[in-house]
Amino acid sequence: MLLRLQIHKLLNGYRHPFSIDLETNASCTRKCSYCPTDPKNKTQLDMPTIRSVVDQLREWKFKGIIYPSSYNEPLADKRIVSILEHICKNLPEARVSVNTNGDLLTSELVGKLNDIGVASFNVSLHEPLSPQPEKRLRLISAMYSNVYLVDMRDGRRLFSLFNRAGSVDVGPIKKLPGCFMVDRMTIRADGNVVLCCNDYRKEVILGNVKETSLREIWNEPEYRKLRRRIWFGRYELPICKRCGHEARPNTKLFKDIQSVSSYGQKRMEPVYTPASKRDRSLAPQR
Ligand code: SF4
Ligand code: SF4
Repeated sequence: MLLRLQIHKLLNGYRHPFSIDLETNASCTRKCSYCPTDPKNKTQLDMPTIRSVVDQLREWKFKGIIYPSSYNEPLADKRIVSILEHICKNLPEARVSVNTNGDLLTSELVGKLNDIGVASFNVSLHEPLSPQPEKRLRLISAMYSNVYLVDMRDGRRLFSLFNRAGSVDVGPIKKLPGCFMVDRMTIRADGNVVLCCNDYRKEVILGNVKETSLREIWNEPEYRKLRRRIWFGRYELPICKRCGHEARPNTKLFKDIQSVSSYGQKRMEPVYTPASKRDRSLAPQR
């Protein structure tokens, strides 16, 4: 246990979150059965608040990962290019990784965002997905070494699904022995900072970035203690008691790994990867 605590401190030292989920808009182009997202929710985080978050992260010397998403499709936000440009310009030591369902992803957009400084793209393949978008996404992934495909379709997943803290039914669940999701800070499109990326219903609101600084929210003493308890698997909150990931063993795991790696070997040389970004790619997170 002591070793885990040391590793935890080493990773984030409780100074700042390991990563930030910044949900700039709340809508999505899809409605997946294993996700509670409401595609009709048009809430957007306003630009002054986004700029303020970025300023605070710069002052905080934030060097972690920024995902411009939570329960949404980030590329559906018409402001996304300028938002990412602002983040990359002002937080050069952070790594920006775009989690997307790929519906609006084009090779031109990847090129543009690579130029801006985005480190990687994690593209989830969801059902229903007709052959055409998948072909397009596979082509884009072959063109760019920092575009990863994550197959979320039934029976083809490398990872089991979370039940989104009880928001969706994924069948029997398993509990995590300890939860490091609390090392991330999740900022929703209305400015609320919630417990973790699984808190879709905003059951545990720790503050709002329109009213309270990130540092104050993160360092609030009770929240720090709560994080530590959750990290060690002490699930006292109702939301944590309900939370888990699907228990179904993924019997196709080995096959999936093989198909992913054999596909990876067939990749063409990237059309464009900025030299400064080549060592900044991230493992898929979605
Ligand atoms: S899983 Fe992703 S693509 Fe599907 S509805 Fe949720 S946010 Fe949208
Ligand atoms: S156990 Fe609690 S903190 Fe961890 S992912 Fe589930 S709801 Fe979030």
